[in-house]
Formats: sequence, C-alpha cells, structure tokens
Amino acid sequence: MFFAGRKHDVNVRGAFLHMLADAGVSAAVIVAGLTVWLTGLAWIDPAISVAIVGLILWSSWGLLRESLDLALDAAPRGIDVAAVRAHLRSWPGVAAVHDLHVWAMSANAAALTAHIVRPEGSDDAFLTNLRESIKARFGIGHVTLQVEREKPEDCVECD
Ligand SMILES: [Zn+2]
Repeated sequence: MFFAGRKHDVNVRGAFLHMLADAGVSAAVIVAGLTVWLTGLAWIDPAISVAIVGLILWSSWGLLRESLDLALDAAPRGIDVAAVRAHLRSWPGVAAVHDLHVWAMSANAAALTAHIVRPEGSDDAFLTNLRESIKARFGIGHVTLQVEREKPEDCVECD
C-alpha cells in the first residue's frame, strides 16, 4: 500500500521510507552481528552503523526538500509555472497575465490565483472553460481568477 502511494503523497512517502529504513536497519544489524560473531572483526559494527546513517540521510533528503516546499508555500515540483503562465496567456481573448501564484494546499492539492486582462470583458463560460483547462492540464483544482479589462499602468510582468 505504501509502495503504491509513495509517488503522489509526501505523507505516504514519509511512512514508506520510514518503514523501509526500519527494515533495512534491522537486516543490517543482524548481518553485522552474525559477521562479528563468526569472524571476530569488531570494526564491522561501527562501519555498518555509519553506512546506515548515510543511507538514512540520503533517503530522507528528497522528502525534506518536498516538506520544506510545502511549509514555504512553494509551487509543487510537478507543476511548471512558466507553462501555466503561457497557457493562460495563449487563451483566446487574454491580453495579459499578472500576479500569477501557484502553491500547494496539501500534499496532493494545488491552488492558483491570477489576474487575467481581457479587454472584451468577462462571462461565466470564459472562466469555467479556463478553469477546467487548468485542472485538466496541470492538475490544479483550486483556481481563482480575477478578470480585468485593462492592464494596470504599473504592471511589470504584463507583456
Ligand atoms: Zn490585476
């Protein structure tokens, strides 16, 4: 169950890595114990310990980064914000996009807010279609769009 879910949810991945590390450490301790017992080479014990520490550090590094991204409201790694911006910008009727923000709400849900400059005004179909296209293409379910008729004068990211 943990193996199957480890790619999609940072919590499941954490549990999976934890159990994997536990099993690995137990196996290594048994092997080290048997080897020391059979050969009398006592240095094998600390050597295996150092190797286990290295393995735990290596396996938790990605998890730590992903958790930090969540804590810092960074855009999820799987979502290319530049591609999202290009998608919004290329939508029919859109003249400019600014104040685009993408962040993770939880381990498997993302949110997006953006200002859409649309000189022709707005209607529900425009918003519904754009929202559904973002959900289908980028997997972002919580989308909030603000439609404006004109670019703000001080807009630096509008093209
Ligand atoms: Zn605006």
